Amino acid sequence: MKSYRLVSREVKNEKTLVRVKDAVFGGRKVVVIAGPCAVESREQLLAAASRVSQAGAVMLRGGTFKTRTSPYSFQGLGEEGLKILAEASLETGLATITEVVDQASLELALEYVDMLQIGARNMHNSSLLCMVGRSGKPVLLKRGLSATVEEWLLAAEYIVAAGNDNVVLCERGIRTFEHVTRNTLDLSIVPLVQELSHLPVIVDPSHATGDRHLVVPMSRAAVAAGADGLILEVHPQPERALCDGFQSLSTDEFDCLMPGLRAIAATVGRVA
Ligand code: PEP
Ligand code: MN
Repeated sequence: MKSYRLVSREVKNEKTLVRVKDAVFGGRKVVVIAGPCAVESREQLLAAASRVSQAGAVMLRGGTFKTRTSPYSFQGLGEEGLKILAEASLETGLATITEVVDQASLELALEYVDMLQIGARNMHNSSLLCMVGRSGKPVLLKRGLSATVEEWLLAAEYIVAAGNDNVVLCERGIRTFEHVTRNTLDLSIVPLVQELSHLPVIVDPSHATGDRHLVVPMSRAAVAAGADGLILEVHPQPERALCDGFQSLSTDEFDCLMPGLRAIAATVGRVA
């Protein structure tokens, strides 16, 4: 037996479908989540939401409790940002996802969003994993900065063991000796983890590369590799973003990306 059980194909062979409003992770459709790194203002988020929705995204991302490397960087709008996310969802019909970092942010997020995100920096936070597990809300679990596949699946096991099997895994690049990209996108683990686990696996090419010029080719590669979805940073004015502007696609760039993804999805028996 593997060290992880409930998330393993040894215990459950059929693929788990995770439903978040109209989005279904793990089915035929490649679920595209798009939106800014952080909710910065009502204008910024509503502009991003309407454009990504028109282009074919089914979920909206936006951080309001940011786990920034520096304490001097923008830390997010907190509850005010969650209210803006809820308004954007009402306006566009998009389901929403935001990162939670502790019990207080979790309790607030539960009132406003459709899916919770556990960030790479919190993948090892077992008490937070248990809390989101007990919440029952769908969870996107990012791979830790230097986590092995086994450690990542054991983190997912914490959530499922706490009673929540609505877990989607997200490969977001790992830390290696190579610094020419922000992280190293470990794409080969997508089909590998899909074999080891019944949970859906999506890819975050924005944090994996750190460079918007690499986001388009790596999004295509992820869909070709069989990813169950993508989470992409998209900003109406990336050059003015308070967070991760360099890796954010403009709304026009996101428009151009989507038709190509649909074509690639079709070649691997999926729709996007
Ligand atoms: C994010 O998606 O906003 C984020 C902080 O990503 P990660 O946790 O993968 O660094
Ligand atoms: Mn970001």
